[in-house]
Amino acid sequence: MEPLEDLVAAYRILAEHGVIDAYGHVSLRSPRDPTRYYLARSIAPEKVQEEDLLEYDLDSRPLDAQGRESVRERFIHGEIYRSRPEVMAVVHNHSPSVVPFSVTDVPMRPLFHMAAFIGEGLPNFEIRDVQKGTDLLVKTPQLGEALAKKLGNKPAALMRGHGAVVVGEGLARAVGRSVYLELSARMQMQAMLLAGEKGKITYLDEAEVKASNPVQDYARAWPLWREKALARAKAERR
Ligand code: MN
Repeated sequence: MEPLEDLVAAYRILAEHGVIDAYGHVSLRSPRDPTRYYLARSIAPEKVQEEDLLEYDLDSRPLDAQGRESVRERFIHGEIYRSRPEVMAVVHNHSPSVVPFSVTDVPMRPLFHMAAFIGEGLPNFEIRDVQKGTDLLVKTPQLGEALAKKLGNKPAALMRGHGAVVVGEGLARAVGRSVYLELSARMQMQAMLLAGEKGKITYLDEAEVKASNPVQDYARAWPLWREKALARAKAERR
């Protein structure tokens, strides 16, 4: 099925770009039933094939696991789909350049056109506000719901000391935003180093953010990334 192939590609693209490590995940809302979504079983993202994808309801219960182990943080996906009807794809990552912004008071700001969406504002989820003494994992429906609430209507949210969630109206957007969020974090650190204490950094202004967001759907990057990822998936099957 084509959408499931897209999801296999999404896992591999995110791993290839260093956005998800052995633990990140990406999901797709079912195109047939908005109360269902697909997410891979607990497996390294760069190894995902179609048979590793499980279907879940919005309570994040697998419908037909057949012994396949679910990822513990699946509630991130179910609760975001529940609260955001227009969202069709959700990425949870441990994007390494993004994490420093989640533990300092330096906000991520839009400085690069491919990641203009940052200008809409990225909330930072502090898990301690919901529950103290956790291992930082969003592994209960309550934590997932709190994260979805913090995300609000934004394209992404940081998760303090952990990573980020990124959403989109389709996989291309959620994946593209994740790749460019990581790159933008790196670029902002470089710009801050170059500029130093007194230097000036010119960020995108409000009008530029507003003009960029409706058009930035990563439509040229996605088919290229997808083709390469699916060729690798196919080669590994032989
Ligand atoms: Mn995680």
